[in-house]
Amino acid sequence: MCTVCGCSDGKASIEDAHGHHHDHGDGHEHGGHHHHDRGHGHDHGHYHHHGGAHDHAPDEAGLLDCGANPAGQKIAGMSSDRIIQVERDILDKNNRLAADNRARFAADGVLAFNLVSSPGAGKTSLLVRALSEKASFAIGVIEGDQQTSNDAERIRATGVPAIQVNTGKGCHLDAAMVGEAYDRLPWLNGGLLFIENVGNLVCPAAFDLGEACKIVVFSTTEGEDKPLKYPDMFAASSLMLINKIDLAPVLDFDLAKTIDYARRVNPKIEVLTVSARTGEGFATFFAWIRKRMAATTPAAMTAAE
Ligand code: MG
Repeated sequence: MCTVCGCSDGKASIEDAHGHHHDHGDGHEHGGHHHHDRGHGHDHGHYHHHGGAHDHAPDEAGLLDCGANPAGQKIAGMSSDRIIQVERDILDKNNRLAADNRARFAADGVLAFNLVSSPGAGKTSLLVRALSEKASFAIGVIEGDQQTSNDAERIRATGVPAIQVNTGKGCHLDAAMVGEAYDRLPWLNGGLLFIENVGNLVCPAAFDLGEACKIVVFSTTEGEDKPLKYPDMFAASSLMLINKIDLAPVLDFDLAKTIDYARRVNPKIEVLTVSARTGEGFATFFAWIRKRMAATTPAAMTAAE
């Protein structure tokens, strides 16, 4: 279950390094056993516990609906308190696995960014443009989408390894999926990991994946007031990349207003403008990344120079 929107998780499917898909949970080492689709074949109401240490079996049979109680969700047979407890368990579990991921990234000297945006903002195009530049350190990509391996294939076409995670009915990547996908990437010793989250300006804000920071990609076609309408994501992000800046004149896009709105939500958010189509702004974006790398992985910087 997503603790934000209340949708039920589908079964995630994660590629191996050869682009073949496996069901999430097959043979990975994060936190023990799994309960998949416990006793239910129908579409709503089953839970997907990633290595759950808790047993909520009698409560997992519920009907899911949104917005009916303090937890924001209504599940048949469960009290509001119980739903809140389940949400807490899910988030606690995710936070523990995110801490595991963070420790592994640190041990590998890997700087990890979690790219978030609405669908169509241009996350994959940005990555493809960025990865087409030659780097002297290792780079890997984890791609999250509900379905298809299209984005991982676009990344691999640049020569950079990518693992696709299909979240099925799920609306966000979680830390368990990222841990498993990271296992399947080559060793990124001292390098960079880009995690492209599912296109969704709401739910991914609540799920820590172990990243150094979130980068929210916002495109000029989306309307200046998105930071006010979806404040959690902008509050959770360290950098706002304003993409499709080449279209700004055609759209009468108001850059100053967008930045003002974003900073009302998050006074500390950094802002860069880019165009994945023309390459405008990428030199500045790369400088921003190098600065973050220098702060976290001095070894990689030395190797890069
Ligand atoms: Mg994409």
